[in-house]
Amino acid sequence: MSFYTQKSTGKRCVTLSFLCYKQCGPLNCILSSWLFCVVMCFFLLAVAYLLVFHVCFVMFSWTYWKSIFTPPATPCKKFQLSYSDKQRYEMEERPDAQKQVLVEIAKKLPIFTRAQSGAIRFCDRCQVLKPDRCHHCSVCETCVLKMDHHCPWVNNCVGFSNYKFFLLFLSYSMLYCIFIAATVFKYFLKFWVGELPNGPAKFHVLFLMFVALMFFVSLMFLFGYHCWLVAKNRSTLEAFSAPVFVGGPDRNGFNVGIRKNLQQVFGEERRLWFIPVVTSQGNGHYFPLKNRTSESHNPLLANEDMWDESDDGSEEGSLVEDQDPSVTIEMEE
Ligand SMILES: [Zn+2]
Ligand SMILES: [Zn+2]
Repeated sequence: MSFYTQKSTGKRCVTLSFLCYKQCGPLNCILSSWLFCVVMCFFLLAVAYLLVFHVCFVMFSWTYWKSIFTPPATPCKKFQLSYSDKQRYEMEERPDAQKQVLVEIAKKLPIFTRAQSGAIRFCDRCQVLKPDRCHHCSVCETCVLKMDHHCPWVNNCVGFSNYKFFLLFLSYSMLYCIFIAATVFKYFLKFWVGELPNGPAKFHVLFLMFVALMFFVSLMFLFGYHCWLVAKNRSTLEAFSAPVFVGGPDRNGFNVGIRKNLQQVFGEERRLWFIPVVTSQGNGHYFPLKNRTSESHNPLLANEDMWDESDDGSEEGSLVEDQDPSVTIEMEE
């Protein structure tokens, strides 16, 4: 009984040795102890491998699921043309007058970015004034808040609603691949020196090693690039084409320092950074600006509760004081 009640492997070995010594003699005792330790080591190693593997696999599957099935966030009703605005807009026959209607609507919204021409960004297909960092996705056929890119690997738009999940998916995929490669490496070496017995296992070892390494290297570059984007607070689209503000294009327009940039994506609670739950700051309709002057004029940042998305179509949002009324509207694809 004492054998089963010992807690550590070492103590078990000593107990086993003592029992063996009494019953079988010293040689058998040493051999039995050695065999037991080897079996236990293999068993513990197998348990550790299985544990790490399943943690990697579960996190990989969870983040992949969240990346795929989290619907892209779209602009709230405040950015859509209300019934009365739409009537006013359609009643106007001259394009300039129509643009003026949109300018008046834009004054009530926290929009600081412009089209390349300096015009306010308007999506003709969704009939919305585009919030900062929002773009129309031609695959999803909707405007997506803080759109990063449309990803064919997850068959979904990567944007405000699932950017954290996408980053975690990349990191857990890398972890999964490197774990597979590391555990198969020993057998891969055996394969090269010809110690691996002939059979289907040979193919499995080769396949696992190459696929795991190939995906790891590809993901490493993609993940590294996105780490850089997060540190700079840019989306992939913004990295290719700098966001245009009233004062002109500025690649670092949303860069408010690495710590705050990270918190925008992952939230303030660090223990939740690695769990695929929603912790990103804000609601995706506006983002703090590097230029604090513009931000101080942002009524939404002064009172976020005011901008909780409501479906009543009301327009109680404050005016944005510093918008240039002379700016022109341009329909943007
Ligand atoms: Zn759109
Ligand atoms: Zn899309």
